[in-house]
Amino acid sequence: MTAPGAAAAMMAAVRLHFLGATRTVTGSQYLLETDRARVVIDCGMFQGSPHDVIRNRVPFAYEPTAIDALLLTHAHLDHCGLIPHLVGSGFRKPIYAVGGTVDLTRLVLLDSAKLQEEAAESHQRFAARHPDRAAAEDEATMADLAAATTEDPAAATRNAPPAAITGLRAPLYTVDDANAALALFQSVEYGVEVPVAPGITATFLDAGHILGSAIIRVVVREAQGDRTIVFSGDLGRPDTPIIRDPVTVTSADYLLIESTYGGRTHEPEEEAVRMLGEAVKLTADAKGVLLMPSFAIGRTQEIVYRLNQLLQAGSVPRVPLYLDSPMAQRATDIYRAHADYFDDDARALIARHDAPIDYPGAAVTASAKDSLAIEQAARPLMVVASNGMITGGRIVQHVKALVGDPAMTLLFVGYQGEGTLGARLQQGATSVRIDGQDLEVRCQVRSIDGFSAHADEPELLAWLGNFATKPRTTFIVHGDPAAQAAFEPKVRALASRRRCPPGARRSDLT
Ligand SMILES: [Zn+2]
Repeated sequence: MTAPGAAAAMMAAVRLHFLGATRTVTGSQYLLETDRARVVIDCGMFQGSPHDVIRNRVPFAYEPTAIDALLLTHAHLDHCGLIPHLVGSGFRKPIYAVGGTVDLTRLVLLDSAKLQEEAAESHQRFAARHPDRAAAEDEATMADLAAATTEDPAAATRNAPPAAITGLRAPLYTVDDANAALALFQSVEYGVEVPVAPGITATFLDAGHILGSAIIRVVVREAQGDRTIVFSGDLGRPDTPIIRDPVTVTSADYLLIESTYGGRTHEPEEEAVRMLGEAVKLTADAKGVLLMPSFAIGRTQEIVYRLNQLLQAGSVPRVPLYLDSPMAQRATDIYRAHADYFDDDARALIARHDAPIDYPGAAVTASAKDSLAIEQAARPLMVVASNGMITGGRIVQHVKALVGDPAMTLLFVGYQGEGTLGARLQQGATSVRIDGQDLEVRCQVRSIDGFSAHADEPELLAWLGNFATKPRTTFIVHGDPAAQAAFEPKVRALASRRRCPPGARRSDLT
């Protein structure tokens, strides 16, 4: 039998906890722990089906006040969305991110907080009108929450029992919480090693995913020796327009790699651009509507870049474009302000006084009223609206109004998470339920996956192939189970010494 003291001494000096984005693509969150420091990497929101979303209410797996620093890979909500909740729960230490990410995260978190407050208000109004139904719903939500708590890979380390969770109708966080979180951000430069906690440094390297996105190389320096842990974050693709290519990493003791597109290969870029052009031409000929659900950050700027390119090249007729996402417009402004992160092609365009992320005469709709008026506008027309998976935002009302219209083409230009309305439509649903109404699907539905901001499997493997020193362990994260299962044997085949447990709960980095 080992004495407790000896057991503690035998414990690994570095422990890594996988708290989200393990068997799914949302809720990214990892805790790196040494005997003298605790650092959280990403603090993302779970998104998608109600089953996923309830996981946001599961208490943090650690004591927020005991964390020394938070490192943020990029501004997408599934990586930063729970930060104000963490701050509302007592976290007060620095949050490190690249400058572009700091600016984009401000946009994302304030928007998210506003949505949280609005949803809570509407839930409370509903509860006041229908107390019995609200009570029954709360009970069902509590049951879901209890299930999520026990199913969650991190449940074993959580302290609070689900029965202790109250305030289901309260917002997860408020605008005040978001502002308090934003005050903790410290902007870092790409490639500069920054001390973030006792014995721990972090270097942010361009991940080529969206503006300001980073791969984070964490070095732990302890008496037992140094360990380098690389978090890929969301890894972009070579030759993505506007932003630079993902930085090549050649060594790590431990590697966490995303696997969103495990087992899948994107269409070649030229094919994706051709399909976009074809959809524009068809819409023009049919005097129809081309509706593109798009993430406000990254994808919208790329789609506008491509549409502008097609138009300038004379490949498509000029069809009026409505940019129906105030958030996307603000994100575009932030992109413009950080042109120093752009790749050579985009900088060359700017040097020639071209505006690479603008479409001539694009109509920007500010109010919800303007948004609804788009459907009455003269056709043909194109709309880019958020959000990308049709789980909320202005796109939902457009889909609701137009899903039964055969002259409408619903064009998916981004990833559709399991269980989302977007995924249902993409998979060929013949009817959908929106706001309690069953609607027949009569529009055309098309998909282009060649515009992904994520590396596909060959690109992930190529990036992994740059490692001259093989990681002791490669952890496959940020992927649905099928993608991880497809990806794992190929990662193993790259080097027999590698182990890659997908969906791990905790790992001792010896
Ligand atoms: Zn992302």
